[in-house]
Amino acid sequence: MLMGDRTPMRSELLERLGNGRFDVLVVGGGINGAVSAAALAAGGAAVALVERGDFAGLTSQETSNLVWGGVKYLQSRELRLVWSLCGARNRLVAAFPGRVRPTRFLGVLDGGAPVGRHVAGAGAALYWALGRGVTPRPRSYGPRRAAEVEPLVAVPGLRGAVEYWDARLVDGDARFVWDFVASALSNGAVAANYVALVAAERSRTGSAGWRARLRDVRTGEELETTARVVVNAAGPLVPEVGALLGEPARHRLALSKGVHLVVPRILAADRVVAMFDDDSRPFFVIPLGDRTMIGTTDARVAPGDVDAVAVTADDRAFLLAQVNRRLALERPLTSADVVAERAGVRPLVLTGEAGETSETDWLTLSRRHRVDADTRRGVVTILGGKLTDCVNVGEEIVGVMSAFGLEVRSVSLWYRSPGLPGAAELRRLARESVPARADPDGRRDDDHGGAAMVEALWRRQGRKAHRVLATWRADPASAVEILPGTAVSRAELDVMVREELVVTPEDLFRRRTLLGQTRSAAELEAAGAVAGLFG
Ligand SMILES: Cc1cc2nc3c(=O)[nH]c(=O)nc-3n(C[C@H](O)[C@H](O)[C@H](O)COP(=O)(O)OP(=O)(O)OC[C@H]3O[C@@H](n4cnc5c(N)ncnc54)[C@H](O)[C@@H]3O)c2cc1C
Repeated sequence: MLMGDRTPMRSELLERLGNGRFDVLVVGGGINGAVSAAALAAGGAAVALVERGDFAGLTSQETSNLVWGGVKYLQSRELRLVWSLCGARNRLVAAFPGRVRPTRFLGVLDGGAPVGRHVAGAGAALYWALGRGVTPRPRSYGPRRAAEVEPLVAVPGLRGAVEYWDARLVDGDARFVWDFVASALSNGAVAANYVALVAAERSRTGSAGWRARLRDVRTGEELETTARVVVNAAGPLVPEVGALLGEPARHRLALSKGVHLVVPRILAADRVVAMFDDDSRPFFVIPLGDRTMIGTTDARVAPGDVDAVAVTADDRAFLLAQVNRRLALERPLTSADVVAERAGVRPLVLTGEAGETSETDWLTLSRRHRVDADTRRGVVTILGGKLTDCVNVGEEIVGVMSAFGLEVRSVSLWYRSPGLPGAAELRRLARESVPARADPDGRRDDDHGGAAMVEALWRRQGRKAHRVLATWRADPASAVEILPGTAVSRAELDVMVREELVVTPEDLFRRRTLLGQTRSAAELEAAGAVAGLFG
């Protein structure tokens, strides 16, 4: 991934979008739309990406942040899916050092777990093999040893635990999506948030492709643009966008709601604890910045309700009860401990022309994605999938373009972030050039030149970090963490607002950083995080 180039202003992008002539118009700026735009732009296609809200503002900001091979799909014997997801995981870990962090998972087996220690151990070994053996080998623990490894799991009925490795997005799912949008922009794509596709017309001959009517949802202003091919990457709203493209109504997706709660940090170690809930479904306790995230759930959503999904009191009570029942916490968590919540809708692919699925079928629906290319109509549709599989989706989209008469190069290094040695160099420069100072609260701020802060800055910003460093140098106060434990400085927030198509405070706090999930609005306000940033 190329980083360091300046992002055009949104107004300039809107200008290029209006009356533009593109090879491909991608509708939807979640992970699938973002990787499509990034891969196509890297291959030389003229690409426009429109997102009706902020990038990653729907499903892609509500995930468990896991980049994983889907160990739970071993239960449904989907070995090919696990093989393919493990491959995708390995590629992301290699390509995004630091951002996609290999993480130790402790799978806890209590009285309610559907399998015992030996079956779980065999499953973990199979998972390791399907993952090409690139992670440390899994281990299996009896109850006593499991409780030593992670004292929180020492509860009555503990039968043991297995330890295995997967990975996670340390700066969160939405930031990861932004990185692909930034990559598309740096390769010449036009990408605009808060722009919705509202209508589309296919030219009579079809050779000229599509004329799309777009609306800037911030101003209500309408624009027109043309493209030879439209990629429908609208996630759970694929059917709605399909209808705008004149597609006959077909039931191609089932929708499932999943909820997470963010609570104060309950795990000391940098690991994920995986358990089975009361319904024998796996659920996770996951580090999120300096907090902990717990989830998820799986409940059917009716088409048409996508934008209305929210965490209910029942969801909250269910998740808190699962954790309280299975972890030896100092005191039980209550809803007063919830720092933030997330609710998202998984788009799950229905096979064939099936309309309705039974409740049981639905719970076992595959999480595999599908790319449908309709060459007659000039539409490519991305259905379902996992964030982990994003690189495969991007490459499939490039591959399918030749069927539309578009030659797009397949580029091997279309996704990557700068390597970790750059962080060491940045740290050296910060130490040498940014004077240490005490902040107004008397908190000794060694960290503005210190490891955590600089590592996080490099991870998120790549070469843009040097611009932040220049501000730190000129104004050492701008180098102080905005709130202790967040590893985000005022200077970095400024760069994000100016250079990352941030339109609202929520874009910045919820999607470009983790602050909106790890700190309350009141804390951010009190820290002066908001003041002055939005002119
Ligand atoms: C609770 C939960 C946990 C998950 N955890 C994981 C995990 O840990 N790891 C993993 O790999 N996967 C996970 N997933 C799956 C993953 O989130 C999805 O596969 C992925 O985010 C889907 O991305 P998408 O781009 O297809 O959809 P979305 O992110 O929903 O993007 C579609 C976009 O299209 C936009 N759009 C719709 N209509 C229009 C229009 N007319 N004009 C312009 N834009 C439009 C929407 O606003 C939206 O932003 C999880 C899913 C859920 C729900």
